[in-house]
This record gives sequence, structure tokens and C-alpha cells, in this order.
Amino acid sequence: MPTAIEFFKFLPKKNCGKCGFPTCLAFAMQLANSKAKLADCPYVSDEAKAKLEASSAPPIRLVSIGAGSNKVEIGDETELYRHDKKFFHQTRYAIVISDRAADKEIAAKLRRAADLRFERVGQMLAVDMLGVRNDSGDAARFASVVARVARESALPLVLMSPDAAAVRAAASAANLSRPLIYAADESNWEALAAAAKELRFPLAVRHADLNGLAALVEKVHASGVEDMVLDLCPEGLQQVVERNTIVRKNAVKRTFRGLGYPIITNACGNGQAVLMAMVSTMKYGGIVLMDDLDPAHALPLFTLRQNIYTDPQVPLQVKAGLYPINNPGESSPVLFTTNFSLTYFTVAADIEKSRMPAWLLVVDAEGLSVMTAYSAGKLTAESVAEALRSSGAMEKSGREMLIIPGMLSRMSGKLQELTGVKIIVGPRESSGISKMLRSL
Ligand code: SF4
Repeated sequence: MPTAIEFFKFLPKKNCGKCGFPTCLAFAMQLANSKAKLADCPYVSDEAKAKLEASSAPPIRLVSIGAGSNKVEIGDETELYRHDKKFFHQTRYAIVISDRAADKEIAAKLRRAADLRFERVGQMLAVDMLGVRNDSGDAARFASVVARVARESALPLVLMSPDAAAVRAAASAANLSRPLIYAADESNWEALAAAAKELRFPLAVRHADLNGLAALVEKVHASGVEDMVLDLCPEGLQQVVERNTIVRKNAVKRTFRGLGYPIITNACGNGQAVLMAMVSTMKYGGIVLMDDLDPAHALPLFTLRQNIYTDPQVPLQVKAGLYPINNPGESSPVLFTTNFSLTYFTVAADIEKSRMPAWLLVVDAEGLSVMTAYSAGKLTAESVAEALRSSGAMEKSGREMLIIPGMLSRMSGKLQELTGVKIIVGPRESSGISKMLRSL
């Protein structure tokens, strides 16, 4: 977004007030704060409008691939460091299928990709995309494998072929929803750019040299393709870090806008594919292509991504309320914790593991963990007493007893006074819950 002074430079400086503000400078300040629209000034020239629109465009273009609920969006990032604000569009992982693979192998790979799903702190973590690679060099075979994959999976596709004829054949063999074409280089960009423009598909552009890439991107853009994804052709981890950082830094600092597009990393055939995926996730990757992904590698990879793309200012939360675990009844005890997702899921899992029926009261503490919330005054004896009353926990349990986290032992006296129920100080660590429940 341009500053007030940048807006002011383009305004006619008539100070006529027709925009609803007394001076052009006042109007410029409102524009910079997104509280006014440029169209409100009737005197702004078309040339000035075009320049201002270009400078207020996001530093990294938003590119969407696929359609419907499986559509993925990459780019539109504004930050170099996550803690400055947050990262908006998470890295997407694509499993690649060769068009030379036998039918059985294709079926097995589709199944493996579909099965790579894990639930963690209330979110479903999964593979996002599928790629089909034209290893056969045969356009008809490529088209038939793409059609099969599109039929059997709703995930967005990457059409990996250097041959525009193969891409066109795939597009006519199946009803494809905005797949990504991968990839245009010095040798084939004219044909692939023409296909991307005609089919309205986004296009990946690859070059191992950043100056060469910038020149190629300019040519592809001039040919009419707007949605591009950049392959910086890294051969190892160091190059992923270096090249991705240079491109991201130049884009968000606006020192060079020619490479303001999301990045794709092709880790296929690389012996360090999972590490490439991890480093790409940490360093601005939009998409990572992999030949396969072992579940033992997928879970830490997905968890890393979840941590990086969580808004650092908004903790993951669960809904406050009373949760039954292991079919509790009238004689089951009540425990409480806060609505910080990680705390809730850890405590709930430990109760589940104990196989002892219990009620878990989740108290709204603005998504903070127990000790953080208590120290910040967001979790008090009063707020716990109110949560206990409004949830009807005591009527459901009938035990007239509340188990509180061990770290909150100092809250026990006041809480007993406010609620009139017996307070039992639980273990300091959630892992001790099972033993304690068995001893009641
Ligand atoms: Fe300035 Fe245009 Fe507003 Fe008039 S309408 S004060 S020229 S910004």
C-alpha cells in the first residue's frame, strides 16, 4: 500500500473538496489508511490511477490452483519474518505420479496420498495436491494418466510436462480445474505461455539463474500470462535458503518487483526431498513437489508447517464448555483446563488414555495455556467458578468435586469458597492425570 505522500504526488492538488475531504493531502491520508477510494476524486488521471493501482498491488501475487473446497492459494505474502505479522498462505505439498507408472502403481500412490491425513490440535493436516509427470514423452499417455488422476482425486493438479501439446491433450481429455502447468524455461516458454494463456491455467517458470529468471518472467508476462509460480531450481538445501530468501526479500521490500510471485520447489529425485520440503516450508516455499512421502516424515513435516503458518498473535483455541470423555455419568469427576488447543488436546488425550470416565471443563482464557493465562489475569478463581456454574457441570457429575491443574494450587482456597465444592489439586503435568483418576 502506498504511503500518504505517494498518494499525494498523484493527486491534482486542486483542494476543491469534491472527494469529501477539505484538501488533497487530507484525502491522501485517508487513502493510505484505506478509509477512502481513489474513485472519489473526479480529477485523477487514468495514468495516475494505473500507477497507484500497480504500487498498491500485493508484493507477491496471489495464485490459486484448483477449484472448490480443494482449491489452494499461494503467495500474497507481505512479511519477511513471521513475528512481524503472520504468514498467510501455507506451503502446499504435492505427490507426483509418473505417467510411466503401471496402473497398479498409480492406484497405490493415489491411495497413499489420500491416506496421508493426520488430525492435530483440531486441524486436519494432509497432502494438498497431486502432480502428473510426463516421463513417457507421449502426449496421449500423459493425457490418459491426468484424466485418471482427475477422475479419482479431487486434489488440484500440477501438469508436469515441457511439451505444450501434451498439456493441451491433458486439458482436452479431462475437465481440469485450473491446474498448474510446470514448467516453462528458455526452450519452451513461448508454446507453454500460449497454452497457459489460452487455457487460463497458471504457469510455473524455471531458471537456475535469478537474473535469467527475471528476464524470462518478464517475457512470459508480456505474452499475457499473469499467474506465475517461480522455480528457482535449487540443487540443495543451501540454495533453497539463499534463492528463496533473495526473491522474498526483494519482493516484500519492493526493491525488485519482477519476481513477486510464489515459489515452487521440485524435490523429486532429490535424496534430501523431505529436508528440501522442510526448508522450503520454513523459507517461503509456496509448493513442494515430491515423488512420495512416508507417513513417518509426513507428520513432522505437516506439524512444522502448522506451527509456521499459525498466526503468532492468535493462539489456536477450542470452544469453551463441558466435554464428556469416556462416557462419563453422574459419579464421574470434573477436571478443568483452558481453551488453548494444545493444552486441551493434551489433557483430553491423557484422560482418554486412562479409560476413566470424566468431564473436562474448558474455561475461556483467550486461548492461553494454564500458567500464562493465570499470570496474565485471564484465568481467575472467579472465571473458573462462573464457567463451572454456567456449564452445569456439578449437576451432571454429582460428585461435588473439582480437580484443578497442579500449577494452580494457590487458587484452591478461593475457588472452594466461591463454588462450595471440594477442590482437589491435580498433578502438575497432564501425564499424571491417569494415575490420579484411578486413585479417586
Ligand atoms: Fe483534491 Fe481531488 Fe479531493 Fe479535489 S476531489 S480535494 S482535487 S483529491
